[in-house]
Parts: sequence; C-alpha cells; structure tokens
Amino acid sequence: MEGNSLLEVFPLLVPQDSSFTRFVGYISVQGQEHLFRIELPPQSTSNKNNVPAKMECSQELHTILKEYEDVILQRIKQCSDLPSFLSELKYVLEQVNRTRKHESSLSLLEKDYPPVQYYPKLIQEIDNIGWENLVFIDKSLTILHIKLKDKQNREHIVQVKLPLDYPSSYPHCSTDLPQSNSSESSTQSHILIQDAYKNWNPKTSSIKDILIVYSSIFEQFSELWTMLEDFDKNTWILEPDASSSFNYSLNYRRIALGNHCSLQVILDALRPRAVPECHFLGSDTIILPLRDQLNRNLHLWNTRSTVRNNLETLLSTKFPAPKHLNKEQAEEFNMDCAICYSFKLENEIPERACDNQKCGKVFHRKCLFEWLRAIPNSRHSFDTIFGECPYCSSSISCKL
Ligand code: ZN
Ligand code: ZN
Repeated sequence: MEGNSLLEVFPLLVPQDSSFTRFVGYISVQGQEHLFRIELPPQSTSNKNNVPAKMECSQELHTILKEYEDVILQRIKQCSDLPSFLSELKYVLEQVNRTRKHESSLSLLEKDYPPVQYYPKLIQEIDNIGWENLVFIDKSLTILHIKLKDKQNREHIVQVKLPLDYPSSYPHCSTDLPQSNSSESSTQSHILIQDAYKNWNPKTSSIKDILIVYSSIFEQFSELWTMLEDFDKNTWILEPDASSSFNYSLNYRRIALGNHCSLQVILDALRPRAVPECHFLGSDTIILPLRDQLNRNLHLWNTRSTVRNNLETLLSTKFPAPKHLNKEQAEEFNMDCAICYSFKLENEIPERACDNQKCGKVFHRKCLFEWLRAIPNSRHSFDTIFGECPYCSSSISCKL
C-alpha cells in the first residue's frame, strides 16, 4: 500500500516526505473533519526497540479517541506499516461513528416525539377524518396534510400542525386561500378560523371541526374559482404558469390576445362576477383601442355571464383558445421578451412593446434599455432612451 491507496482511506491526509512516514491533514469522524498528524519512527525494519509512532490531533478528536485508547495502541503495535495502521484507525473510527449516531437518534426520539397519551387521540382524529384523506404525516407525527373536497369536488390540502400537548392546545391549520385585492375577504376567513381556535375545547373539539370551518370558507371563494377555471378552460393562459396545478391563492389570470398583446384580469375574490381590474399589455396601437372599447361598453356587463364571456362580448372578440389546442399560432401569442427570449426576468414580465403594429414585439424594460444603450445612435434624455426596435427599426423609447 503506497501513498495513492492511502488517499482512498483518508483523502485529506497529505504525506510530508517521499518515504511516507509523516502525514498531516484532516480525518473524518462523525461527519466532521479533524486535524490529525502522525509520524512513524525512522524505518520500521530497524525499529527493533519498538519506538512508538507519534500521533497528534485536535482536542475534540482526542476526547473521542481517549475512550478507545487501548484498542488503538494495540492496533498500532500489530501493524507493520503506517498505511495499514491508518486503515485500522479508520475502522475503529467507523465503529465510533456508528455507536454515536445510534445514541443521538435515540435521544432525538425521546425529546422530539409526542408523549404517549398523544397517540390514541391522533389515531381517533384520523379515523374521524378518514385515513384516505390523510395525504402526508411527518416523521414526528405532528404535521398532517389532509385532503378536503369542497362542494364542487375541488380538492384542497389543509396543513395541520399539532402542538405536542394536543389536544390541550388547538391545532394550527392553514390552506391556500385567495390573497385578495380587497383585504375584506382574507379578513373574513381569518376571523372564522380565529373563532374556531378561540372556541377550542380540549375535551370536545377535533380537527374535523376546523375542517368544517374551512369548508364554509371554500364556499365563499367557490365562484372565484369557477370564473378562473372558465379562463383556464377557454383561453390561452400566460400567467400563472399553466403547467403548475391550480393555485387556490390566486385571483388573477393573464391571457394572450394575439399580436404579442395580453390582458391581465384581476378578480374581486368575493364578487368575482363583477367588473374586474383589467391591464392590457402590448403595442399601444393595439391595446389603446381595446381599452377604449372596454370602457365604452362597460354598461353591457352582465353578472349572470362569466367574466370571460363578458370580456369577449364587450371587446367583440373571441379570446385565443388554450395553448394545447392552439399550437400552430404559438408565435403570435408569444409574450416572451424578444431580446432575452424569456417571459419572467427577475420576476418582471415584458412590459414594453414595439408600437409598429406589424411588429409588436415585447421586451423587458431592462433588456430594451440595455439594448438601446449599446447602440451608438440612441439618444438619452433624462432617464429615457430613444432608439430603434431591434426587429423592425421603428422608433421606440424606454424609461428605466
Ligand atoms: Zn428580456
Ligand atoms: Zn418593432
């Protein structure tokens, strides 16, 4: 065994001479690196007097090795050379590792797991909720994810965190709910949950009582989700990312309009059929007439129709169908930045558009600014830069 194979045993131990009698570096014990130095007496063959090898190490390692001193000394005597001693040492250290790890996981068990009276109550609770609705339970048995269906058969996940003295203290529950633009709706649901916590009775209350409160909260937002689902089913969604699952905390959609234009629709979570907040994005030559038309026709808004239907009627258009039904037109609906080819850049979406209707390419403000700044005949005026569209050379400006 030469220096190379020694590296495999202790990769951080470096020989200090070419005859491999002195090594210094780090050895790993319990996942921690410890400074270590070992020196053999000159030439083991001439070492008739059995001069022992010299070992030096960190204080910590010293404490660990002290318990095993006898074993280690014995092995040193038996080993003919340094590499074989180091292999032996590694073996001893691995045993140390194993016993220590075992001890620490045992003490974890006692400290971090709920007391014995907790278990029957927990089992009774899950029986009550239905085991088929238990989606997840963590290792410490205190975090539960419970599947809860609303009246429309939508699946929600409620996270339940049980305190260690459960049921003396109430469980903390949470689920995705709309972060509304009007704070009213989040306040309402917040109050309902707080009431359930306040009325918690260790003898009679159960997780199921809180789930019932959530069911009634879901009813409040059911219309909102219906309106959003209608957009998802019938329009080309740019935001949120269509590949992710339905997010119950959102109350908006950004839909593609074609010609590199898009419309962001923000619904009122509690009055989702009312006129929503609308933000058009794209070339002014296209979006200004649309915005005008929408405002002119607002009196036609009919709360019995879906929001999408209303918008289509008021804008006298049919929104582009979902992406998966509409592949050949992908380029026209593409809202990616025409400079960096992505949609989101540091959480910004492309907000500047070329006003040439035939071009209409969209850009992140930052990308366009950088682009124009690099072109020699662009003009600066205060914080605005004037230049040409990278695609069609129409004049375009950008404010940072
Ligand atoms: Zn960009
Ligand atoms: Zn252009």
